[in-house]
Amino acid sequence: MRFICTGCEKQFPITRVDPRCDNCGEPLELPLVTGAINKHVPWHSCLTERYRDFFPFVKADTSLSLGEGFTPLISEANLSGELGLAALYLKNETLNPTWSFKDRGTLMGVQHALNLGYKRIGTVSTGNMAASVAAYGAHAGLETFIFVSDGIAAEKLGPVSIYGPHLVKVEGDYGRLYYESLKVGSENGIYFINSDVPFRVEGSKTIAYEICEQLDFCVPDFVVVPVSAGGNIRGIIKGFREFLASGLIDRLPVFVAAQAAGCAPVYRAYSHGDSTIERVEQPHTVAHAIENPYPPSGNEVLRQLRTLNGLSVAVEEQDILYWQRRLAQAGIFAQPASAVPLAALKQLRDQGIVNEDHTAVCVVTGSGLKYTAVLQQHGLTAYSCSLRELGSFIKHTFLVIQ
Ligand SMILES: *Cc1c(COP(=O)(O)O)cnc(C)c1O
Ligand SMILES: [Zn+2]
Repeated sequence: MRFICTGCEKQFPITRVDPRCDNCGEPLELPLVTGAINKHVPWHSCLTERYRDFFPFVKADTSLSLGEGFTPLISEANLSGELGLAALYLKNETLNPTWSFKDRGTLMGVQHALNLGYKRIGTVSTGNMAASVAAYGAHAGLETFIFVSDGIAAEKLGPVSIYGPHLVKVEGDYGRLYYESLKVGSENGIYFINSDVPFRVEGSKTIAYEICEQLDFCVPDFVVVPVSAGGNIRGIIKGFREFLASGLIDRLPVFVAAQAAGCAPVYRAYSHGDSTIERVEQPHTVAHAIENPYPPSGNEVLRQLRTLNGLSVAVEEQDILYWQRRLAQAGIFAQPASAVPLAALKQLRDQGIVNEDHTAVCVVTGSGLKYTAVLQQHGLTAYSCSLRELGSFIKHTFLVIQ
């Protein structure tokens, strides 16, 4: 089993840690695998057990699990009515151990690191990935290095440092930190589980497996994913392709890469028909989790969208906030990045690309509690009254028919 370059197909040994090709610089990936679902291993066991056939390249150790994956797929009638779809499903990834889908890929990355004999892991992140790697590193008893940019808000540091990693604020260009970390890692025996490393992509493919199982192998028409580095959508696409190649499903959905207009390198290249992405200058969006101006898997996401007739959509700030609120009003408090797929779906519906006969799955990638500062932008209010007048207040304010 070898890594294959997504750009030039050059092969590399599976013991490699650098996630990019020496030849063309594009990300590496593991080959498509086929198999069957291990049905006698129950749902809610470990991902590498139920889907064991699809992980031939790791010696799985279930004790590394913190209970990631096997998240609910919720049918949302009110939102599907508002959008005018036959059915809308929300894959609720906020229920993972550190409240985002990142935990799936972190488990696989830690697994690979341990298989290769590493005692140190790390990542470059300002948010969900930092918390995830810190948590899994702590659980596995590994020395864990988290590099963040020095401009990071204090409220984001606490939820990472609580796990006890070596947390380093690095001054300088954050974009270069990704590449610098790989160098520091190879010099110091630290396995950097960054955003789109091959094993992170392997983790994300389980989102697709679960969606197929939860829909009884009836493939939805559209699967909409918020895209930043691009690792998650690559994994979800790989998962559907592996189930198709295994004869478990009979077609692929249309994959939609959803981005915020304030930072949309994939959408821009896609809509201009370009084959490579360009760096976004001065990215700005409330959807911080997808604010990557130069996504390391951007070109590969473009290639996949082109090959599979996928789509890309960019959405405005006010629409992100609107759909964040609508999601919460449907019972799921997600972070702004995770509302981007709903805003994208609305746009596609307005354009008639999605219609009333279609079904769609939106991947709700991370919890709203990770970023409470945004609540100020929602103009939320509460009523007040005295205890003495509570009864009449309720009656007159809410219950009297006018
Ligand atoms: C990381 C992240 C994304 C983007 O995933 P990529 O693999 O970087 O494309 C989207 N939403 C949330 C909440 C995330 O944490
Ligand atoms: Zn290459």
